[in-house]
Amino acid sequence: MAEWPYNTATWSRLRKAHLSLEPLCRGCAEAGRMTPANTVDHIKPISNGGEAFPSHDGLASYCHPCHSAKTARGAEAGAIRSTKPRKGCDVNGMPLDPEHHWRKSLRAEPPRAAAYIQNQLVTKGKL
Ligand SMILES: [Zn+2]
Repeated sequence: MAEWPYNTATWSRLRKAHLSLEPLCRGCAEAGRMTPANTVDHIKPISNGGEAFPSHDGLASYCHPCHSAKTARGAEAGAIRSTKPRKGCDVNGMPLDPEHHWRKSLRAEPPRAAAYIQNQLVTKGKL
């Protein structure tokens, strides 16, 4: 299952500490959504010379769908936005592709969309 460093107590502590500092998904926040994060990502991948246990500014919180999409798009995807459309949707059923017409209509009304999502999270007991 999990490989080094994700199977260490040090990572477990760092991950929990980072999630308490940055509890919302960074990918979703960029798209104007508030989604609780459950995955901590290395901004500079270990495979790319990044530290295994960096300080918090070397880490980023993501929800599972955003993290999978980011990983699938490659190590550079965090910095350089892929032109490929993102497939799938999040836990709220909202398409991940920021160019999807559903999201465009949400962007046109950001305060209402944010209030709606907040309400959904409260209803589900996630906040
Ligand atoms: Zn997300």
